[in-house]
Amino acid sequence: HSTIEELKEEVKLRMEAEAKAKEALEKERDLNELKTKFLSLVSHEFKTPLSGILTSATLAGKYTQTEQQEKREKHLGTIKNKVKYLNNILNDFLSIERLETGKVCYKYSSFPLSKVINEVIYNANMLLKDGQRINYPKDIDGYVIEFDEKILELVLSNLINNAIKYSGEHTTIDLEVGFEDNILTFTIIDQGIGIPEKEQGFIFKRYFRAENALLDQGTGIGLNIVKTHLENLGGSIIFKSEENQGSTFTVTIPTTNT
Ligand code: ADP
Repeated sequence: HSTIEELKEEVKLRMEAEAKAKEALEKERDLNELKTKFLSLVSHEFKTPLSGILTSATLAGKYTQTEQQEKREKHLGTIKNKVKYLNNILNDFLSIERLETGKVCYKYSSFPLSKVINEVIYNANMLLKDGQRINYPKDIDGYVIEFDEKILELVLSNLINNAIKYSGEHTTIDLEVGFEDNILTFTIIDQGIGIPEKEQGFIFKRYFRAENALLDQGTGIGLNIVKTHLENLGGSIIFKSEENQGSTFTVTIPTTNT
């Protein structure tokens, strides 16, 4: 015969096993939900650009005469832009996969801060709308820092590209850099659409896009990746924003100026 104590112990073990099974089931359900969401997002995001590419390719193929060169080039340009866009989203998806499966490998090295900033600004300049400009510090040549260069580039380009995308024509974007107590701080200030107050708690969540951002293309992945990388590397990201006024994102990374 079992004693009361033994029975109690058995009940406890069974309950624990049940709770574990339930937890596993819920986890699987969450994962499946995420997969479904992911698949519908991928097909949705790829569909429009792909059909645009098909149209442009068909038209470019028709304009074979010398005097049609301009039209042909226009369509080839469209194809190039759309392929670039698809490539960017694919990279975002791959980053997520790598982060999720723990396959990210960070590489620290020493590099001049101005190298990354110049590169990011150079690429961002190609995305500027009419009359938009970016102010950035030009007196940072002396800074050689130690960090993961690719990640810093990813962080700054995501934030500056967002600032461009979510601001109108004839606006200014400011990139400020500060260095104190081995902490590098980047501040990106825009005069854009801002983030509605009631949605401010969600913007680092994967796939989340604010209501007022839906006119622009995007996947809601960038900020999630940025924050995850920064936190993995001991950094941080915060923001403040006011709808129709603009947003300010502040990033910190621990580093040394060598
Ligand atoms: P995406 O831009 O692809 O939608 P992100 O993860 O980069 O995804 O950003 C998530 C959301 O945060 C955006 O959809 C937008 O609603 C909001 N957001 C990010 N940056 C800005 C900004 N500078 N100004 C206004 N809204 C922003």
